[in-house]
Amino acid sequence: MRFDIMTLFPEFVTRVLEESIIGRAQKSGHITVTARNIRDYSKDKHRRVDDTPYGGGKGMLMMAPPIYDCYASIVEETPEIGKRRVIYMSPRGKVLDQSKARELTAYDQLIILCGHYEGVDARIIEEIVDEEISIGDFVLTGGELPACILIDAVARLVDGVLAAPECHENESLTNGLVEYPQYTRPVSFHGMDVPEVLLSGHHANIEKWRAKESLAATERLRPDLLKRSSEKGEEK
Ligand code: SAM
Repeated sequence: MRFDIMTLFPEFVTRVLEESIIGRAQKSGHITVTARNIRDYSKDKHRRVDDTPYGGGKGMLMMAPPIYDCYASIVEETPEIGKRRVIYMSPRGKVLDQSKARELTAYDQLIILCGHYEGVDARIIEEIVDEEISIGDFVLTGGELPACILIDAVARLVDGVLAAPECHENESLTNGLVEYPQYTRPVSFHGMDVPEVLLSGHHANIEKWRAKESLAATERLRPDLLKRSSEKGEEK
């Protein structure tokens, strides 16, 4: 799968994404990530990419033409791509969740636009964007961190990126619940022992204990998830 980021700060995103699992996934060829500087597509002699909004108001807006030219160059350079989707990281969008991350793995290429300042000219959204995605109901200074978060969430679901694919089968939010508590060595830490059942080797009992703890943790930490699934008529 391929991710092409349109940003004013390409090094910001490439630095973040070259680390750890996502960095290794790039090296092994399971995913490709590129970041282009929208400023490189400005026709202005000072490489300007922003201007004041029509109608007045504070702040600057990113202009449509350099973003469009950046987008067009990505499309032109990746003609072999089957399914592509263009996403604008935006606090106006639907908030990213695990099912959206999974849904996006169906694409061969995500082209991700990072806004800055007060955002982007509405016509570029109209012209090239398929979907606006937010990472939460708060406003950040730019779309770079949201783009990295989206790529991380999607890329780890791509086949071959995690060493053991079952890692994401039981984890938080995959089945509408948060994960059960997990323990590793030592058996005893600050007077707290690993629950007996996990040391028993009895797989059926371990599964039962995990299911119960997962439900209890969801009730305690994310009761909204249970409310949502009961509204949909699902049983936990
Ligand atoms: N004026 C815009 C508004 O009220 O919707 C906010 C612009 S924000 C200061 C600058 C950029 O940061 C946005 O264009 C977007 O790309 C990014 N951004 C900010 N908050 C975000 C969020 N919660 N999720 C995704 N992107 C966000």
